[in-house]
Amino acid sequence: MIARVTETMEFSNTELREWCRELPKVELHTHLNGSIRDSTLLELVKNHGDNGIIVSKDVEHMILEKGTSLRKCFDLFAVYHVLTTDHETVKRITKEVVEDFAADNCIYLELRTTPKNNEAKGMTKRSYMQAVIDGLKAVDIVDVDLWGCGLNNEESGDTRRKKIFVRLLLSINRSEATSSAIDTVNLAMEMKDVGVVGIDLSGDPTVGQWETVLPALKLARELGLSVTLHCGEVRNSKEIQAMLDFNPERLGHVCLLADEEWDRLKSLVIPVEICLTSNIMTQTIPSIELHHFADLYKSEHPMSLCTDDTGLFSTTLSNEYYKAALSFGLGKEEMFKLAQEAVNFVFADESVKQHLTQKFEEAKGQML
Ligand code: 5GP
Repeated sequence: MIARVTETMEFSNTELREWCRELPKVELHTHLNGSIRDSTLLELVKNHGDNGIIVSKDVEHMILEKGTSLRKCFDLFAVYHVLTTDHETVKRITKEVVEDFAADNCIYLELRTTPKNNEAKGMTKRSYMQAVIDGLKAVDIVDVDLWGCGLNNEESGDTRRKKIFVRLLLSINRSEATSSAIDTVNLAMEMKDVGVVGIDLSGDPTVGQWETVLPALKLARELGLSVTLHCGEVRNSKEIQAMLDFNPERLGHVCLLADEEWDRLKSLVIPVEICLTSNIMTQTIPSIELHHFADLYKSEHPMSLCTDDTGLFSTTLSNEYYKAALSFGLGKEEMFKLAQEAVNFVFADESVKQHLTQKFEEAKGQML
């Protein structure tokens, strides 16, 4: 236990769950295609039918069985990408994912996705991203702020409606060639005034070379885009050190760092996106008690709780807070502070940070 247990004990588990749901939250690490609702996936499988690429019964089983190892997760992503290769579906899943986060009281969502070319569907990386923007415009349970103005209800002017700030990160997949990664960075730059704030490096960590994507990441930095990297999901000391040398604005996961890499991470004070459920379900970390959250928390290292893939791991952001409270004995104040501090690590500009800070100040009186 690393904090006051007593406060957590004051709650019944049901009350604690509800408190975590009501807590305003900031999500910094979630992948669009990993956050599709199960019901939507199953519907897409049904509509898709057996077509030689996927067999519905097998896929339904895979979806319900979930990602119980890192390998299984990447097998599932390959299937998801077969199901979501048209503009209408990309628009639909974006709308649903944002609505799900808003319903969970997330007030700022940095949604990441890998722009994809798909000639057969007339899809380019640009048109894929346009479908994402169309999905944001279609959200109807809350107002969406994408680039500093109301996006989906400019006419309504209803100030009582809840609001979620959404910013986008374009992901480079580790298996991409340098030229393709550079295309993604240039696209991010083109879309800087429509809510794109940075670049993520993700994809199967056993595939690809750091040197292949480095030119694109350097370009992103030159162009003023923030960068976050998936780091240390597998043991690869050379790559982990290269990532620390790059000194990105944030790092995701950092599960399997050697002692000296761990010390370096701390001395560089790089904020970490922590994904508890994901790390346990993929068996990257053997048990929650052994999770590095405890050590980072104790050393007051900057970090933020995140979901990674709400669909794939059947989680929500409030569930991640609930899990942290129960597993590490965090009290109300610690939880509130953890949620509030995430504002410091968002890639959006100062005006958004001020707005979020104000939201937390307003909530403080009711929550503590
Ligand atoms: P998309 O970018 O297609 O919207 O979201 C799914 C993609 O995100 C996956 O194909 C994979 O490249 C990336 N992704 C999702 N979860 C993880 C994760 O836990 N680790 C890594 N390295 N990549 C992930």
